[in-house]
Amino acid sequence: MMPESISLEVVTPDRRVVQETVEEVQVPGSQGYMGVLPGHAPLMTELGIGMLSYRRRGEWFFLTAIRGFAEVLAGRVIVLAERAERAEEIDVERARRAAARAEERLAHLLDPEVNWERAKAALERALVRVQVAAKAGGIHTESRPPEP
Ligand code: ATP
Repeated sequence: MMPESISLEVVTPDRRVVQETVEEVQVPGSQGYMGVLPGHAPLMTELGIGMLSYRRRGEWFFLTAIRGFAEVLAGRVIVLAERAERAEEIDVERARRAAARAEERLAHLLDPEVNWERAKAALERALVRVQVAAKAGGIHTESRPPEP
């Protein structure tokens, strides 16, 4: 018989961000988003910088998941993220300031002091935080997670 739920755990080096029994998870893999339903084949994937969403009792919840790994096991998803924040805990103004700083750095393309990759990653983190924060509160739908 196929399992009907997934035990989802999201941890960072500092804390456990989520531990829930859920019906579906969408993981921001480094090569794109991956959907996990109960009974998914076991696998391990690298995380990019993106939005992790999960459905619990028909409601979608959102968090940032920034680098790290996700492991899918029988009836279980374990996400070991470098950073992760639930939508409700994101400080949007802080993220906007971080985005503005990163954009300012990226505008100085030829400045040897600017670490391009670092500024680009900072901008990606900030933008995904703004995007995820806008989804705070849980969203009721039985279908796919709402588009960004
Ligand atoms: P900032 O420049 O604002 O610190 P950053 O992208 O450099 O942004 P990180 O190094 O990714 O920050 O994160 C440091 C810590 O602060 C992590 O624990 C992360 O979860 C948390 N954090 C970063 N930005 C925010 C935010 N906007 N709201 C809530 N927590 C945040």
